[in-house]
Amino acid sequence: MRLSGHLLIGAADVPASEGTMKALNPATNQLIEPEFAFGGPAQVDQAAMLADAAFDSYSHTSLAERAAFLETIADNLDAVRSELAARTALETGLPHAQFEGEAARAATQFRQFADVVRKGRFLQLAIDPAQPERQPRPRMDHRLQKIALGPVAIFGASNFPISYSVAGGDTASALAAGAPVILKAHNAHPGASEIQARAIRNAVQAHGLHEGVFSMVRGDGNAIGEALVDHPLIKAVTFTGSEQGGMALYRRAQLRPDPIPVFTEMTSVNPTFILPDALAVRGAEIGDGFIERMLVNVGQACLCPSILIAIKGAGFETLRSAMRKRVSEAPARTMLTPGIHGAYVKGLMAMESAGADLIAVGTPADATLDGRAALLEVDGQRLLNEPALAHEVFGPSALLVSVDDEAQLLAVARSFKGQLSAAMHLEDRDLGLARRLLPILERRTGRIVVNAFAHPQEVTYATVHGGPFPATSDSRFTSVGMTSIERFLRPVAYQGFPDALLPEVLREDNPLNLPRNVDGAHSAV
Ligand code: NAP
Repeated sequence: MRLSGHLLIGAADVPASEGTMKALNPATNQLIEPEFAFGGPAQVDQAAMLADAAFDSYSHTSLAERAAFLETIADNLDAVRSELAARTALETGLPHAQFEGEAARAATQFRQFADVVRKGRFLQLAIDPAQPERQPRPRMDHRLQKIALGPVAIFGASNFPISYSVAGGDTASALAAGAPVILKAHNAHPGASEIQARAIRNAVQAHGLHEGVFSMVRGDGNAIGEALVDHPLIKAVTFTGSEQGGMALYRRAQLRPDPIPVFTEMTSVNPTFILPDALAVRGAEIGDGFIERMLVNVGQACLCPSILIAIKGAGFETLRSAMRKRVSEAPARTMLTPGIHGAYVKGLMAMESAGADLIAVGTPADATLDGRAALLEVDGQRLLNEPALAHEVFGPSALLVSVDDEAQLLAVARSFKGQLSAAMHLEDRDLGLARRLLPILERRTGRIVVNAFAHPQEVTYATVHGGPFPATSDSRFTSVGMTSIERFLRPVAYQGFPDALLPEVLREDNPLNLPRNVDGAHSAV
């Protein structure tokens, strides 16, 4: 596919109104062709008007039509997989094979959401039939379904340029909910963004849907993102990135005359606790596995485990040596953007200033944007005294925390802010301590893993990729998994409606044979 560099607003290829940019190959620090257009508030307005115009027809597509549309997006993504992987590798410095996998995952996700749509459970249909004889007053017929909130603005993430970007889970779940999408492309991978956006737009056209169902904009600086969040026709926002950026957009949305939900996913150190018996029996293996996971994506992953807590004693030295060995053998690798690289270097210096000791470094960097792996160590009391040590350093670094005893391990667990995930490594004899640790972790995280590390690739009904602030801005929802669709839905009740006026899914004869809660009991399908 020849990349045009245009903004994709509805069916139109829109040229630059506010300058252009080229993608950077972070491995070579060279710019890559072609030029990509920047737009501004006028283009956001154009896309939002189209999305609003598309809303009524798109949100009323039948479940079968909508599911088929999502499957066509999946097919279109499959058709461009190699090309998409190649361009993404060029724009990120990460391996081609990784992006073949990420593109396949993105396509699978659209198919999974097609299945969610066909099954119709997300509509949460409920019927409380009329009770004309009820005393002291009769009950009217009440019926409920969930409908889409309205057009959704999605900020593509830098660190997963496909699965958290244009064709990522946010887009798949919003389109599945019946919400038109305006995607704000991340400037770290403009070519990859265009390939994905065209795959989605081609599906819109193939299904004869309103052109406003999907648009992609791009801009220089904050103005375009601010215009999206401020636009009165946008009814929800999703964001993956820094706490600073996420909270700026969140606060902005709450200051609108009509505040809207902003689902941000921001920061997590994914603390890992090794309980004493597991440490004694498998300290080296766990330490090695921890560093291996930490190094995935050059440490630029939301579920990257970056703080490991263990009690000094049997197995601690073995754990420490295994971690040092693995880090010192790790090659420096290209990081995604100059900004992320710079923040990583600064973050490491801040950790040392806050009192952490640098106990191992990876092989030296060859290129400007190479991130050198690092292992720092601190004792539990220092971490308790210095909350800055528990901040995320986005990149290939880890902090080993040595605690004195079980009481200090629990105190350290209590000191953590909200997290996407936490892990416990344990043997049978550790179960008592694990039971005391568990409620502390439940209050602080959306996912708790035992004897493994959180895995980002699973997209299921039980997946939770969320957690209390600052991991996200709304711990009631997940941004990955089949229930992520719930972010874009709201309930509407229909009271006393004649059958002929009801939405098809709520009619008495249940023509689509969908699961419904009738008078408090779930109907089987
Ligand atoms: P970012 O700086 O937060 O930017 C994410 C997106 O939001 C970009 O499109 C950015 O536009 C836009 N944006 C940010 N602040 C904005 C504001 N105040 N107003 C309007 N738009 C705004 O994140 P990033 O570029 O991906 O990476 C920077 C840092 O974020 C990393 O070093 C890392 O610490 C953190 N991060 C964390 C995760 C995680 O999963 N934990 C993932 C990604 C990034 P512009 O590019 O035009 O500024």
